[in-house]
Amino acid sequence: MATIEASVRPELCAASDAVIEDAVGHADLMVLRGLLYQLTGDPELKAVALKSVRVGRVDTVAPATDADIALLRRKAVDFLKAYRDTGAGPIGYGPPERVPESMALVVGSDIPDVGLDLFVEEIALDPWARSPQWPATPDPKQLENFTVTIIGAGMGGLNAAVQLKRAGIRYNVIEKNAGVGGTWHENRYPGARVDTPSRMYTHLFGVEFPYPYVYGDHIENQKYFDWVADKFDLLGDITFKTEVRSLTWDEKAALWEIGVEGPDGHKTLRSNAVISGVGFLNRPNMPQIEGMDQFKGPSWHTARWPDGVDLRGKRVAVIGTGCTGYQMVPEIALIADHITVFQRTPQWLLPVPGYLSLSAPQILWLDRNLPYHANFMRFRASYGYGPDFAKIFNVDPDFDDPHACSEANKAARDRSIAFLESKLSDPELIATMTPNHPIMSARPVVVDPEYCILDAIQRDNVTLVTDGIKRINATGVEGTNGVQYDADVIIYATGFRANDFLFPMKITGRDGKTIDELWAADGARAYVGCMMPGFPNLWALYGPNTNGGLHVAAFAEMTMVYAMQCIETLILDGKKAIEPTEDAYWRYNRVVDARNAQKLWSDPRAHNYWRGEHGRSAAMNPFTGYEMRNYLLHPDFADLEIR
Ligand code: NAP
Repeated sequence: MATIEASVRPELCAASDAVIEDAVGHADLMVLRGLLYQLTGDPELKAVALKSVRVGRVDTVAPATDADIALLRRKAVDFLKAYRDTGAGPIGYGPPERVPESMALVVGSDIPDVGLDLFVEEIALDPWARSPQWPATPDPKQLENFTVTIIGAGMGGLNAAVQLKRAGIRYNVIEKNAGVGGTWHENRYPGARVDTPSRMYTHLFGVEFPYPYVYGDHIENQKYFDWVADKFDLLGDITFKTEVRSLTWDEKAALWEIGVEGPDGHKTLRSNAVISGVGFLNRPNMPQIEGMDQFKGPSWHTARWPDGVDLRGKRVAVIGTGCTGYQMVPEIALIADHITVFQRTPQWLLPVPGYLSLSAPQILWLDRNLPYHANFMRFRASYGYGPDFAKIFNVDPDFDDPHACSEANKAARDRSIAFLESKLSDPELIATMTPNHPIMSARPVVVDPEYCILDAIQRDNVTLVTDGIKRINATGVEGTNGVQYDADVIIYATGFRANDFLFPMKITGRDGKTIDELWAADGARAYVGCMMPGFPNLWALYGPNTNGGLHVAAFAEMTMVYAMQCIETLILDGKKAIEPTEDAYWRYNRVVDARNAQKLWSDPRAHNYWRGEHGRSAAMNPFTGYEMRNYLLHPDFADLEIR
């Protein structure tokens, strides 16, 4: 395995014993246990006794006694001192066959066989574990004649570029924005922040990226994407400020004609294959409210935050209270003169202590100086979304409750209500902020218990309005309660056109069939989340039914492994086109629909944007990460037509 390993660690060489001891004093003890075992094979680490503990909303384990804690710390300090004293040079991570056991020591139980391969990848000791190798040497002429166009330079598109570049396949990237980053280039509203740990919000090759927060804000996320583009020297391959408007398949030439609109007007490019990395929460959903155009002040969607906005002294109306509204309102409440929040539907809240906090600097020191610390921390974070996580989305058909869908779902609801009650004393306000839909049937909002939306709505300068909006007029918003709420600024936190996949591109496949025609009956579908019959050599990253089951970077990486294996087959076999059969597409989708029907988001009480107008979800992935990994890492070529 080719690890990403520092050549030498001058910071450690210069570190005093006290610095080492201080850093180790802040370390995650379970991570130390597994990591040191991996590096040394010391059997005493295995013998450390454990006890069950609850951290935030997670049941986990920790060393049982003070003596166990002291032993782990002493061994880590001794290791670091000895490593420092021998020059802190490059160091291997120990026997690969030990990795599963070391991972088990981190989480305190064996990793189930079904998930082992996935987590051996996730620990990123091999940063190229999701980069397919050529099964044979390609003919240079075939290679030279094949080009791929990638649409978008966000999480998926940047990875696609890195992987194609590594494989020596020619590609170009078309990006509508002025920079890389996709979602994070666009979502710059105050408070924008990931709700999964940043350690797993990187590609495998990004494991070393120093995120200063446990949950990075939009500024740090943007830095990550800039870092990727820089580290892999991608900028020269990206055409910015240029939008793909149309894709038209030319069957005779076996090429996609790609209509783009850029600073120089309209152009048509041609490529053998297209990888769409446009994301799924990409196109703002602007509401249709009477009188919106009458408003005299500025207004914008949260994903179109204007540069240089100063809300000091302003009266702001915020329409929409999804994750975005709930993240943004507490931040702008600290700045604006007054905020009126228009809430149609409250959201469930998941309090995570330290959600807004920086990581301790000692942890970042360990990332730089304790070999493979970042890898084991990444594994620890991603295992939290491991084997048991998917179960919380299952409906238990035998569980009868007016508000919940399973025992675990009810327990999660009770915890969230306890949090509401800990923050709010007014029973009426508690009722207002308690959603009717089962928890987890829509994306809940991760919040910092120290300061969040529940604090914001109790501030003197915030008014929560749960009556509807009648119209917007020149000076503000008129409620259905007859009250006029004057505002200087209106901010639409009204979400995205999540069910309009690949929108607004006009995509025309083989025989002139459009993607809209393919999806007309009941919304967007794909074969294994990324391919459509009649649309050869086209792969969608974050395509239909790929939300959930795997974290975003992993899904993009695995889908790219799938696409690369198809592309390599075309190049090696001198073929021109590959697409799924109609039969395979429908067979796969029947399973998707059947499995989705058993999920929380399909419960009749659910209220979410995951279910589209057709009554089924085109967004959600009902498979576990392991199942999806099998689909994507091992293409079933019998389902594909190659010509
Ligand atoms: P959203 O969840 O779709 O919420 C949109 C909000 O706008 C809802 O409150 C909706 O009310 C309201 N709304 C829509 N049309 C309206 C209208 N015509 N009049 C009044 N209200 C209207 O969108 P989002 O908050 O931007 O979040 C979308 C997704 O982005 C999240 O689910 C998540 O996946 C991602 N995200 C993640 C984070 C994070 O924590 N990392 C932060 C932000 C976003 P109804 O519910 O009543 O329709």
